[in-house]
Amino acid sequence: MDDGGARLTCPYCESYGVSRLFLATARLDCCECDECGARWDEEPATGKFRGRGGRQSAVDGAARR
Ligand SMILES: [Zn+2]
Repeated sequence: MDDGGARLTCPYCESYGVSRLFLATARLDCCECDECGARWDEEPATGKFRGRGGRQSAVDGAARR
């Protein structure tokens, strides 16, 4: 697979079955692995790993402020 350099795989199980949702309000990519169910956040500009998060992490934090 040619992914153009961006990491498209799950950092936990290295599966390519990753769902990615850009959260404009939080400026984060919210990722979820279809294989192992892990969820994490990334900075879309740098692809930097922002830590494992629940579904609420970025979404809920932005919504409640
Ligand atoms: Zn995974």
